[in-house]
Amino acid sequence: MLFDPQLIARYDTRGPRYTSYPTAAHFHEAFGAEDYAAALAASNDAPIPRDLSLYLHLPFCRDACWYCGCHRSITRRADRARAYLDTLLDEIAMLGERVDRDRLVRQLHLGGGTPTYYSPTALAELLDALARAFSFAPARECEMGIEIDPRSVDPAAARELVALGFDRISLGIQDFDPRVQAAINRRQSISQVRAVVAAVREAGARSVSFDLIYGLPHQTPERFARTLRAVCTLQPDRVSTYAYAHMPERFALQSLMPADALPSPATRLRLLEQCHACFGASGYQALGLDHFVRPEDPLMVAMIDGSVQRNFQGYSTHADCDLIGLGASAISSVGDVYAQNAVALRQWAGMVRESRPPVARGLRLSADDRLRREVIQALMCRGRVEVAAVEAAHGCDFWAVFADAVPALRRMGADGLLAMDAAGLELTPTGRLLMRNVAMAFDAYAGAEPEARYSRVI
Ligand code: SF4
Repeated sequence: MLFDPQLIARYDTRGPRYTSYPTAAHFHEAFGAEDYAAALAASNDAPIPRDLSLYLHLPFCRDACWYCGCHRSITRRADRARAYLDTLLDEIAMLGERVDRDRLVRQLHLGGGTPTYYSPTALAELLDALARAFSFAPARECEMGIEIDPRSVDPAAARELVALGFDRISLGIQDFDPRVQAAINRRQSISQVRAVVAAVREAGARSVSFDLIYGLPHQTPERFARTLRAVCTLQPDRVSTYAYAHMPERFALQSLMPADALPSPATRLRLLEQCHACFGASGYQALGLDHFVRPEDPLMVAMIDGSVQRNFQGYSTHADCDLIGLGASAISSVGDVYAQNAVALRQWAGMVRESRPPVARGLRLSADDRLRREVIQALMCRGRVEVAAVEAAHGCDFWAVFADAVPALRRMGADGLLAMDAAGLELTPTGRLLMRNVAMAFDAYAGAEPEARYSRVI
């Protein structure tokens, strides 16, 4: 059996999800706008400047989902949303001036919040501003993604979004069960989702992704099985199955959910096992920590050829691009720096008004950070670390650098999580489920943060 509950109970600690290394918890305020501006300038001057991936954060939502841990703002005030859009247009123009025009945008993703809080007309305005500020690769060579809330988009609007150029559509599903939906304050029917999926497919979208969450109140194997069956009938190209992280001390609205209805660790495991069984039987392949994709999907192709990456949006192609984040709280990854925009809307807007990159914190990676980032990326994306490749890229003696990690790795090897020899290590199917634990062995910062900051591994 893939999942041994006793083994997994031993490893069910808290830890980072490694959407970056070092994690955002280690960004600091000594890194600011001028440091980011210098990193952008240096990236233009690289011998072969990297192409670009753009992420735009649109933070507004009409209603609060109680499980949510995103940077979002709940409002029905159109003037607030309009003011944010105007500031974002200014930020786009300002950042565009700092990036050479021969660097092509290969990937664009709109996330939030709820990007479809805005009408297709407003989003068209955003795309026009982006096209003025940056050079985009030809349409077939540029992925254009947007997160759609099926509660706020009807089929006609969904078709309009595809006509605007968005060809990778991501829908937040979480769970179709009415009792679970009531407990998390997010009600959306299967028929609403089916109508949006049909509309974007008819309009020519290249990819449809669903996000599910396991570990929510009232989820049981029987109810969750119905959700998984419904998901499979809608045939998304990708499914992400996120573990719900219950941290009401950080996200106050989570305390509105019935804590006594949260599934036990054993049930959470069972729900995850159901995901593997159901999606495996439906022809999907497991990718990394929490994704299931069709074998022909570009993400699976990228995993095989080594170009898949783990970043703030989960797993993504285009590991070779610099990521420019725009909007409040957005995170950029340019060369060897991470830079996070101010989270508070007022602070972010104030910095944009002063024509400064609205960066509030960040980090310049050391040589040791870069080495460990590559090892952790290899584990999280490919489930394998090749010592010779790491040594060649970083000019180091791998086993000397990671001597402290060896006892923990040996223990995990004895527990069946990985196979290890002098040439490298590879996760087993059980180890893939616990890859965050294995990655922690390579994390120089592990233990430097209060554990409560992170979610449970299972
Ligand atoms: S889950 Fe999405 S729609 Fe719900 S509150 Fe969070 S950002 Fe908004």
